[in-house]
Amino acid sequence: MAPGAWTATGIRAAVAAGDLSAREVCARCLDRIAAVDGRLHAFTTVLEDAALARAEEVDAHRGAWRDRPLLGVPVAVKDIICTRGAPTTAGSRILAGYRPPYDATVVTRLLDAGAVIVGKTNCDEFAMGSSTEHSAYGPTRNPWAPDRIPGGSSGGAAAAVAAALAPVSIATDTGGSIRQPAAFCGVVGLKPTYGRVSRYGLLAFASSLDQIGPLTRTVEDAAAVLQVLAGPDPRDATTAEEPAPAMADLLPGNVGGTRIGVPRAALAAGVDAEVLDAFNAALALLAERGAEVCDVDLPHMQYAVPVYYLVAPAEASSNLARYDGVRYGHRAALHDAAAGVPEMYARTRSEGFGAEVKRRIMLGTYALSAGYYDAYYVHAQRVRSLIRSDYDAAFAGVDAIAMPTTPTPAFRIGERIDDPLAMYLGDVFTVSSNLTGLPAISLPAGLTRARLPLGFQLIGRPFDEATLLRIGDVLERDAPWRDERPPVSA
Ligand code: GLN
Repeated sequence: MAPGAWTATGIRAAVAAGDLSAREVCARCLDRIAAVDGRLHAFTTVLEDAALARAEEVDAHRGAWRDRPLLGVPVAVKDIICTRGAPTTAGSRILAGYRPPYDATVVTRLLDAGAVIVGKTNCDEFAMGSSTEHSAYGPTRNPWAPDRIPGGSSGGAAAAVAAALAPVSIATDTGGSIRQPAAFCGVVGLKPTYGRVSRYGLLAFASSLDQIGPLTRTVEDAAAVLQVLAGPDPRDATTAEEPAPAMADLLPGNVGGTRIGVPRAALAAGVDAEVLDAFNAALALLAERGAEVCDVDLPHMQYAVPVYYLVAPAEASSNLARYDGVRYGHRAALHDAAAGVPEMYARTRSEGFGAEVKRRIMLGTYALSAGYYDAYYVHAQRVRSLIRSDYDAAFAGVDAIAMPTTPTPAFRIGERIDDPLAMYLGDVFTVSSNLTGLPAISLPAGLTRARLPLGFQLIGRPFDEATLLRIGDVLERDAPWRDERPPVSA
């Protein structure tokens, strides 16, 4: 198996059968990272020694662990998810050198499933961004076009899977951070329902929006990883009891009689022509396979970006208050003997946080402050309920809602960095599933004429990832772009 053909499902089968050792798989993965990642910078940390030792442990237990669903599968973890003893920076200077004393629940579950963690992937600082340019450790490049961004905030996670540096990445999605980079890098990205996957050990950005999910090459792999991650966790009170859908109920997919709604009015303006063409082509393919496509109305969708950019910064301003130089990470050196603790906090945070994080903390603090709270935060929460009501009404008549993942293909590095509003507006199609908590998936939808990937997004009813995966499997199986790969080579 060449790394380019690697899937989690394929690797697991080969390792379980004894056709490949986990060590061999891991070594090939590390070789490829060494050969390619100098150009991409998908990883902030590569865990060579730990990964090889872990792969040997998997091989030593192959008999007893044979049924584990990710046996010997290399997994890359976004650098905002805690990994015991291994650097976890959230793309921020303020956590430079921080090594958490514990694993996030998702990491524990991956290890229990037999996975091998190969490294930590680059992201926008505290997952705030859409391009990975806000990482304190430098940008990641898009494997399809090195002068372009890979998306964000999970740009490293998406680039790693697209360039076959790892078959699976685990990342987070607060307003599109799994789906948008998946779209820009031509891979599958799944944001599960709010409450489906534990966030214990995730460095919180906006707690009412954050979810953890997989980026993979195939829908089958996304389903396999979701099964491993999903389920209640006593350490995260927001997790739901809902059992994960059984694999056998999902695949192979089938769309006969499935009703797919399209919010046509929301696609009328501001969407790139090639994005619309690709979206319509994917819909036509699904209709040909038996899906019923119809219009749905989401009248408050136009407010999703402004609502998100009040709620997310408000929650972030509160969550990031803990980075004060006392318990973890960077602490400013005070040379002035008269300077007190408040001065230490202020200097630590001024030095440790980058410009975008500071902008969000200020916006959020403003929106929550006395006199403005009702006008901004409370008002945003009311509109958030209206957005959710729109979706509930639409789901009375359809099984899934489809729209492009992004209004444009990947933009150039530097293109939007000085224009936060342009950056934020690109999130128009992704933020509403975070505001509503609904599950959503981005599937590869072919390439533009300039060979830049595009994403087809499906949003589902609460805890109905199954329908998204079933539809996704049909699209993937029959898509003419199925075997397209980015030009990066060793
Ligand atoms: N691009 C969005 C933002 O900047 C979403 C980020 C995310 O999902 N973490 O907030």
